[in-house]
Amino acid sequence: MTIQALKGFKDILPDEVALWQHIEATARNIFQRFGFNEIRVPILEKTELFARSIGEATDIVEKEMYSFSDRNGDSITMRPEGTAPVLRSFIEHGLQAKLPVQRLYTIGPMFRHERPQKGRLRQFHQMSVEVLGLNHPRLDAELIAMAWLILEELGLTTSLQINSLGCPACRPAYKDALVQFLAARTEHICEDCQRRSQSNPLRVLDCKSSHCQEQYVTAPAILDHLCPDCDEHFKQTRASLDLLAVPYTVNPFMVRGLDYYTRTTFELVTDALGAQSAVGAGGRYDGLVEQLGGAKSMPGIGFAMGMERLVLLLSQQNADACPDTETDLFVAALGEEAAVAAFPVVHLLRRKGLQVAMDLEGKSLKSQMKQADRAKARFVLILGEEELATGQAILRDMASKEQRQIPMVGPQEALCAVLIEAVAPDRNN
Ligand SMILES: [Zn+2]
Ligand SMILES: [Zn+2]
Repeated sequence: MTIQALKGFKDILPDEVALWQHIEATARNIFQRFGFNEIRVPILEKTELFARSIGEATDIVEKEMYSFSDRNGDSITMRPEGTAPVLRSFIEHGLQAKLPVQRLYTIGPMFRHERPQKGRLRQFHQMSVEVLGLNHPRLDAELIAMAWLILEELGLTTSLQINSLGCPACRPAYKDALVQFLAARTEHICEDCQRRSQSNPLRVLDCKSSHCQEQYVTAPAILDHLCPDCDEHFKQTRASLDLLAVPYTVNPFMVRGLDYYTRTTFELVTDALGAQSAVGAGGRYDGLVEQLGGAKSMPGIGFAMGMERLVLLLSQQNADACPDTETDLFVAALGEEAAVAAFPVVHLLRRKGLQVAMDLEGKSLKSQMKQADRAKARFVLILGEEELATGQAILRDMASKEQRQIPMVGPQEALCAVLIEAVAPDRNN
């Protein structure tokens, strides 16, 4: 029996990779424009890191993490999200002292043992950013606008929802109000919500059951419970978004699945992928650095975008975003002598920056022309016994079918210059 990939783990095959690279390149370029530096952190971390940051009572920590004892008996976890590892690294290396590194981004795989369903992978990929040390609402708006710009430059349409989750000063009173509201409706909500109303009441608002959602229409809203500071911060965040002309709707029932969020939270949602889903989301986490043992009063904010969903959206909405890669030149050498002559020329052309393919085995002309088609070669250079004898190879333009002769005598450097002039004159230097 052949061995297959694990359930929830997916190969990214060569024909999809162009989309991935296009998304990553677009995002990296924008991150740089906004002053972000890349950081790469390990996939394995101590389990404690996630329990302390994401929260013991969250779905992720309760039942979705890939946690196991390593050979020393230490409990380690494959990172289920990117913020905690980046913050751990930030604190461990004292990066706050090393300006200007408080704007960080990272791209890589995350792991969650979720119930297998369409579009939910157990290894998924995120591009995420974190900004540390600043709590001004203009930063919240700047970050949201950057996420918006990534989607705009990718040619994707989504809608933006924002909310404020308050702070340790105002959230407890809201939680109490919500718990009271839920207690009066215990029989009308699902088992999950009943359980969560004890352990993590805000999360009930995320319940997928339409039955539960009918109940929650009249639930107390966090925005009515914000303290004056949080209220002002949210007002200024919205005003700053208005200044940048980023359109948004306020969704007072949007909560995030992680405990560490405070104040501004946001989601970029689309309904183009079946049920409404977020392609990017994030928010402020002002107490998290301190919670992880770092500096007091080191506010933070970040967001993550899901690569798989972006790839899906892009292939639906903007499939032409990345054209197929072409080969500049396919060298069809016929016979051993021609192959020996062509082999070093191909290498030299590649050194000079051309994308060149060659059949190494000396197959028939027909077979080699097929290979040239598959490689989407723009030109084919045909070099057989006859061409060797006359010192003139044939260069065929695959689009126009025009043919011309290329002299095959003289030093290889000169030969390459002639070929590059014919195939890609913009790259001749
Ligand atoms: Zn507050
Ligand atoms: Zn429910």
